[in-house]
Amino acid sequence: MNFEFTAEQEAFRKEVRQWLEHNLPDDLRGSAFASSRADVEEVRSLRAWQKTMAEAGYVGMDWPREFGGRGASLLEMIILYQEMARAESPQLVNRGGVSMLGPTLMKYGTPAQQKRFLPKILTADELWCQGFSEPNAGSDLANLQTRAVREGDHFVVNGQKVWTSMAHVADWCFLLVRTDPDAPKHKGISFLLVDMKTPGITVRPLRQMTGEAEFNEVFWDNVHIPVENLVGKLNEGWSVAITTLAYERDLLTHIRQISLKNALHRLVRLAREQGRSGDRIVRQKLAGLWIGEQALQMNAYRSLTRILRGGQPGPEGSTSKLYWSQLDQELAQLGTDLLGPYAQISEGSPRAVDDGQWEFYSLLAQASGIRAGTSEILRNILAERVLGLPKD
Ligand SMILES: Cc1cc2nc3c(=O)[nH]c(=O)nc-3n(C[C@H](O)[C@H](O)[C@H](O)COP(=O)(O)OP(=O)(O)OC[C@H]3O[C@@H](n4cnc5c(N)ncnc54)[C@H](O)[C@@H]3O)c2cc1C
Repeated sequence: MNFEFTAEQEAFRKEVRQWLEHNLPDDLRGSAFASSRADVEEVRSLRAWQKTMAEAGYVGMDWPREFGGRGASLLEMIILYQEMARAESPQLVNRGGVSMLGPTLMKYGTPAQQKRFLPKILTADELWCQGFSEPNAGSDLANLQTRAVREGDHFVVNGQKVWTSMAHVADWCFLLVRTDPDAPKHKGISFLLVDMKTPGITVRPLRQMTGEAEFNEVFWDNVHIPVENLVGKLNEGWSVAITTLAYERDLLTHIRQISLKNALHRLVRLAREQGRSGDRIVRQKLAGLWIGEQALQMNAYRSLTRILRGGQPGPEGSTSKLYWSQLDQELAQLGTDLLGPYAQISEGSPRAVDDGQWEFYSLLAQASGIRAGTSEILRNILAERVLGLPKD
């Protein structure tokens, strides 16, 4: 692992820092450490911001040129994310598309699928949601029951998904379905791309404890999906999904670090504003979080090094997601401790600190140990697949 950046990489850092200073809209700057992806208007402005970034060549930088990227190294991408955090920019709104589906399509997609879908992922002209979880298939994802039956040129899909983030604003969904119910449960699953405007799809928002409805129930009632939207081979969707999940737990953590770092900067500012920055216990906790954030970054560099040497995100990526969620929750807790009762005042009230973002953040952070794999499941993966401990 090499911690030094080259002169070219430092020059790139300077370039991107200047670009962000000139281009990041004021209404997005700093308001984003706990930004909403439920509000249609807010999603619209986040989409516009991603498009501006894409037009400047700052989205999918590590993607090969043939797929609309810059062919830059992952390190430059990380520099970009560090600078986005420094400028207090929001994360990419289409991050599921950019960091999960995009790499999956580059590996398993047909040339026609790559040509059709990749460019609009970058510009956020098409926003993607992830249709994996079901009422009885969350941690045990391979238990999924949503059924797809081939009829001529189409798959006909029936079933239900749940917790589908942004389904209410997404244009497309990458969907896991069961195509062979008689096969063992990890076999007989397929990976489909679905236009969310297809007749038969009903999206019902689920209100969360934050007060907003960022995720949804999605019902599938005789939804016809063209067979050319199958990614990978029929009944072999599990290995496609594992690729997507590995990217979600590993590379996506680099993106999550943008908001974590944003929150950390805000927390330090908050401690000063509240006159608590001289308090020894607060200082100790802040230092602990700062060190934790740096450790997360070092761990990210380690997985990056492996990928740069030709590897792929593997089960070790679970450490990043696991540790990130722990830090995220500790950070939200410290913000709450600093504010005392004011931590409960939400957006819109004149007494809300930082426009109520701390209240929103402390509630949102409760989900960090659940989304993208619960902490218990990630510990199981690390125990069994990384450390090789016995399963029982
Ligand atoms: C904010 C948020 C956004 C989400 N967005 C999406 C999305 O866009 N698309 C999508 O498909 N899904 C999404 N999810 C769903 C998420 O992936 C699931 O919630 C997660 O996989 C857990 O599944 P579950 O909720 O069914 O809980 P369960 O699997 O029922 O787990 C319940 C509890 O039991 C524990 N548990 C289960 N099995 C084991 C085991 N073998 N060993 C030890 N403990 C175990 C779990 O850790 C958990 O504490 C989202 C979730 C959240 C919170």
